[in-house]
Amino acid sequence: VSPLEVAQVYLERIRSLDPGLGAFLTVNEGVLEEARSLDPSLPLAGLVVAVKDNIVTKGIPTTAGSRLLQGFLPPYEATAVARLKALGALVIGKTNLDEFGMGSSTEHSAFFPSRNPFDPTRVPGGSSGGSAVAVAADLAPLALGSDTGGSVRQPAAFCGIYGLKPTYGRVSRYGLIAYASSLDQIGPMARSVRDLALVMDAISGPDPLDATSLDLKPRFQEALAEPLPSLRLGVVREALSGNSPGVEGALRQALEVFRGLGLQVKGVSWPSLPLALNAYYILAPAEASSNLARYDGTLFGYRAEGEELWRVLEETRARFGLEVKRRILVGTFVLSSGYYEAYYGRAQAFRRRLKAEAQALFQEVDLLLLPTTPHPAFLLGGRPDPLAMYREDLYTVGANLAGLPALSFPAGFEDGLPVGLQLFAPWSRDELLLQAALAFE
Ligand code: GLN
Repeated sequence: VSPLEVAQVYLERIRSLDPGLGAFLTVNEGVLEEARSLDPSLPLAGLVVAVKDNIVTKGIPTTAGSRLLQGFLPPYEATAVARLKALGALVIGKTNLDEFGMGSSTEHSAFFPSRNPFDPTRVPGGSSGGSAVAVAADLAPLALGSDTGGSVRQPAAFCGIYGLKPTYGRVSRYGLIAYASSLDQIGPMARSVRDLALVMDAISGPDPLDATSLDLKPRFQEALAEPLPSLRLGVVREALSGNSPGVEGALRQALEVFRGLGLQVKGVSWPSLPLALNAYYILAPAEASSNLARYDGTLFGYRAEGEELWRVLEETRARFGLEVKRRILVGTFVLSSGYYEAYYGRAQAFRRRLKAEAQALFQEVDLLLLPTTPHPAFLLGGRPDPLAMYREDLYTVGANLAGLPALSFPAGFEDGLPVGLQLFAPWSRDELLLQAALAFE
């Protein structure tokens, strides 16, 4: 089949299925033209990808799920997208998300919620919910998401697919609309480990446009061709209580499989993990309050009408959604003079401790295993209390705070809903995660 035929098939699937799912905010109308003029000898010629709408795409509207960026047409391309396109990939469209990545259900999208393909009365997770739905419902074989506190892994778990949060710095953040810059990473979402590897080999590696990008060559597909090394797997004790029966069952089964593969399994303790959520919901809003200061109606995106600059600013920023306003308020508060040391300073100190504990753990074991979420997908409207929504991220934020790579893989079902488990690896050992997940697959 030609790239053009592939693009046509996916466009057709999106047209017939997406109205019931809400995965896409924008379909790339130019994709057929791009497919026609594509060089068929490129290594990824005709590979269709869906891109989370907080990753900028040149000439395709990019909203970050916010009314503040409605009508924004980026004049440049995110590095991850540019690299995929240079190899022949086709961007089929931009996927729905919680506004600026703030949420765990995609219900905080300023436009509409996405729905879980396994049960449309349930959420697909978030904030990369649209990307997860697109891949799970085969509206695209692959997608890019972003993960600040779990936004690739949690929706991957809720939708029964694979999602990788790379080591901080392995994928350039150039062109990723900033939420919390010290935590943000772009990551791939796919239906197989090999597909994750394909995307990582394309998008990872140093980028002069992102000073925090790491000078590490990706060797994902190469690693998958190698035999699984003998590994010690640590089961994190702090993540074993309060989980649903399906999650417990999936854990037990996964341990059996990993033992069968020759892994040495043992229980380990990561004492600070239960408090990671508290630190995350101080640090992420703090960084967000600073990053979101740029939406003032003067540079790009929406600008309210008016003469007086102050009024323009006020009315422009009134268009942020409730959750975004809440984060800006919390972030501004924890950074304010008199409270800085009590909140932000302590959360930073905690972050260092959490990271040191993880480093110590990786002297004992090579990989950590824990659930991605304590239970499968919840009902739309099922988490009206913001704190209850935050608690959904219990097991995912640790990897972001510690800068570690983490992978969510499908590991079973509970009442017809997918259950996902996570592997964490030491800093920069992303390839190892895929090797282990491939053996499990
Ligand atoms: N749910 C978390 C939050 O709302 C994580 C979001 C993300 O990773 N972008 O902050």
